[in-house]
Amino acid sequence: MSQSMNEHITNWQAVGQETITRVRDLLRLDTRNPPGNEIRAAEYLRALFETEGIPGEIVGPSRDRGTFISRLKGDGSAPPLLLMSHTDVVAVEPEKWTHDPFSGDIADGYIYGRGALDMKQMVAMEAMTMLLLKRAGVKLKRDVIYMAAADEECGGHEGAGWVVEHRPELIQAEYALNEGGGSGLEINGRRYYPVRTAERGTVRFRIRTHGRPGHGSVPHHENAILKLAAILAKFTPNLLPAHFTTTLREYITGIAATQPPDVALALHAVLADEGTADEAIDRLPIDGSLKQRMHAMLRNTVTPTVLKAGSQINVIPSEAEALIDGRNLPGWTPQMVLEELRTVVGSEADIAFLDPSTPLEADLQSPLFSTIKDVLKEHDSEATPIPFLLTGGTDAKHVTRLGTKVYGFVPGLYAGAGEGRRVHSHDERISVRSLQWGVRVLYEVVERFASGSSG
Ligand SMILES: [Zn+2]
Repeated sequence: MSQSMNEHITNWQAVGQETITRVRDLLRLDTRNPPGNEIRAAEYLRALFETEGIPGEIVGPSRDRGTFISRLKGDGSAPPLLLMSHTDVVAVEPEKWTHDPFSGDIADGYIYGRGALDMKQMVAMEAMTMLLLKRAGVKLKRDVIYMAAADEECGGHEGAGWVVEHRPELIQAEYALNEGGGSGLEINGRRYYPVRTAERGTVRFRIRTHGRPGHGSVPHHENAILKLAAILAKFTPNLLPAHFTTTLREYITGIAATQPPDVALALHAVLADEGTADEAIDRLPIDGSLKQRMHAMLRNTVTPTVLKAGSQINVIPSEAEALIDGRNLPGWTPQMVLEELRTVVGSEADIAFLDPSTPLEADLQSPLFSTIKDVLKEHDSEATPIPFLLTGGTDAKHVTRLGTKVYGFVPGLYAGAGEGRRVHSHDERISVRSLQWGVRVLYEVVERFASGSSG
């Protein structure tokens, strides 16, 4: 490798600038899903990689729904590492934004755009990582695979799910880095980096009640709507019982480790007993939204989201149904959640499954997780990396079917309370500083892990 290439690698100022350009380019491509049109991003990436001499392939169920995949070969002495992301974004209400959501505008140190946090910043950071490995001619032990997938926001069946079904050989890897963690977090002035090691599955239900039809003018007790309403009235947020997972234990222990003694004690009290964990969470001297998340990390959740009953105002319907968005913890099958739910719903209503997916929990002791911890410490000595359980789901649900251990790690600086709430909301943005810092952290994790100087 030439001297100048080496210099390019270490010139993080220039790398940061280049990353900013890539993110802005990607934000200007409208990949709202539905309909997606992720081919726009896939073609952009293919051209970028080709210019640098890295071949890639666009795959998918149709031309519009392209997923871009590329690979840097290692010497084969260790199994591959997958850098995964998605190129689609959710809808926008442009009139509620202060900047055009597809402009990539920079203002006050932030880049604005739909996908700035979820997750075109990572599409660009992972692409930069590939480019930098290639430019520096890094000798890899592991292949490093890049996948920028379509359709994550609508379930991933046209993106990562499709690849797993039809072209698994393209992305088969031992480990993967994905969305769902990595961004700095402050609790009582102490800084943490949650790395997503576990993810709940989805287990959706339909609850249906049956009754006696009749004329609306003659009320009776067999009204299907009233039966359903009585059941749904029981659905409080912490409805199902608490269960500790390895990730939750490590998450709480990890936070407690750097908190003042009184807060640490209150945190350990959460782990004392599953039966009293919720009250212990409520007593914690921490931010309310964090408490809400802890309650959700603690249990299988069931949330009514859709109601269907009746068609005419003067007719008592014979059936009523509710759709329930359920999420199951690692180790919990849909059947086990159904049994928990049964005790609440009772035996009268029908309960049916709709499209379950599997929860997952990756090893907290792995060499990749250690590398992440080491690199984070080097770039933020005050930081404590902690594992955490994502209460929602990502494309990890597809990729883990290939046996891949997926970690959610999109390195970013703490940006202040409320900044993360811009995901899927108005004025989504990422700070330029965070992006410059993140691309370096990500590169160093990948370079160190895949070239074998660790792991
Ligand atoms: Zn996402």
